[in-house]
Amino acid sequence: EVDWFSLASILFLLTFAPFIVYYFIMSCDQYQCSLTDPVVDLLMGNKHLSDIWNKTPPLTYRAAGIYTLWVTFQVVLYVFLPDFCHKFLPGYVGGVQEGAVTPAGVVNKYEINGLQAWIITHLLWFANAYYFHWFSPTIIFDNWIPLLWCANILGYVVSTFAMIKGYLFPTNAKDCKFTGNFFYDYMMGIEFNPRIGKWFDFKLFFNGRPGIVAWTLINLSYAAKQQELYGQVTNSMILVNVLQGIYVLDYFWNEAWYLKTIDICHDHFGWYLGWGDCVWLPYTYTLQGLYLVYHPVQLCTANAMGILILGLIGYYIFRMTNHQKDLFRRTNGNCKIWGKKPEYIECSYMSVDGTKFYSKLMTSGFWGWARHFNYTGDLMGSLAYCLACGFAHILPYFYIIYMMILLTHRCLRDEHRCLSKYGKDWKRYTAAVPYRLLPGVF
Ligand code: NDP
Repeated sequence: EVDWFSLASILFLLTFAPFIVYYFIMSCDQYQCSLTDPVVDLLMGNKHLSDIWNKTPPLTYRAAGIYTLWVTFQVVLYVFLPDFCHKFLPGYVGGVQEGAVTPAGVVNKYEINGLQAWIITHLLWFANAYYFHWFSPTIIFDNWIPLLWCANILGYVVSTFAMIKGYLFPTNAKDCKFTGNFFYDYMMGIEFNPRIGKWFDFKLFFNGRPGIVAWTLINLSYAAKQQELYGQVTNSMILVNVLQGIYVLDYFWNEAWYLKTIDICHDHFGWYLGWGDCVWLPYTYTLQGLYLVYHPVQLCTANAMGILILGLIGYYIFRMTNHQKDLFRRTNGNCKIWGKKPEYIECSYMSVDGTKFYSKLMTSGFWGWARHFNYTGDLMGSLAYCLACGFAHILPYFYIIYMMILLTHRCLRDEHRCLSKYGKDWKRYTAAVPYRLLPGVF
């Protein structure tokens, strides 16, 4: 059942999220990234909505061509190029891997080749920038708003297609979820793992590429624009490129692990993931770089070092916390965490058909500090990206505000699910590890 609060939030997001993204990008394009000036202009009657709209670049054939080529290229890399990175990179898990068991008991196979796609795409990018000169490396920045229209079209087409597919030809009918509420189903998705053919998995493709492969390319395009406009790339831009680059590379290095995260294990594929991956992720996760094109902040060495250290510590906590859980679950607790055998709480749960299963919740390492310390590390890294932009405007801080909302909501959503899954065992766990994100605070 869909409660009124969820429905209200969904209607709000479906209606306003595209405008929020447009507002951010437009405010940079027309107001030097000030979020208040457009509102002030409108309220004071200095401008009408039509003035802002008329100054907004429209959809162009060039942008449509670039976007189509981009998505097609990523589809080709995803579907037709089996992974070879795992054959020569020690420690990298790629190639055909299994996902988690779905509620209907299906175990999907995935071709993990995201790292390869990322490397090929970036090699081509640099080959073009330094050797071939087919197009300017500022191409993404130069077409940013026309590309926004293309991304929206794809986001809506793919979400609508996923909904129709859920009704008419689902990949696995038993893994579909119908709440009876049209808006909820459209937003949160019907099918669990929609696929076309054996290998084209909507969730893995749309989240990783075009979304996350694009992230680092977009940042590189912003750096190139700074170089073109000011004759240099600022240290803040380098910091944002490096820290976010580490995060993106981490994602692809651990793509097989990602199959076990909430997005793939529990979320269905609807507008939330479809539109979110096409529009929200590439446009809002890159706001710091965009801001720095308009405001080329040059940090003093001490501040730059402080931000780098915060970002690296955040990344370390994020990675190690995720790694500890992964190791613990893979070895069923037969491993060492910080040099000792891990402590844990034995728990059990019932599947829908009444079968009893057993699991373990670790209370050692970072998982003994807080129940979602991986989110804490993620938030520290996110804060570092924002701080690199200085304090003149609020826009670059949108990311940390958004991540705090996203991860706190995710935390509550996950705990709600775990409580209904593990019951009293979950209560024992929360008594042993009382804090969610920050020991002693929350
Ligand atoms: P987690 O990796 O924290 O997974 C939560 C699940 O882990 C729970 O449902 C439970 O599953 C299991 N679990 C919980 N506590 C324990 C424990 N003590 N011991 C063992 N297993 C436990 O969540 P996510 O999938 O949301 O996040 C993965 C990473 O991705 C995070 O680091 C997050 O920061 C990042 N992320 C980043 C986003 C971004 O936009 N940048 C968006 C979302 C996530 P079970 O049912 O198996 O027991």
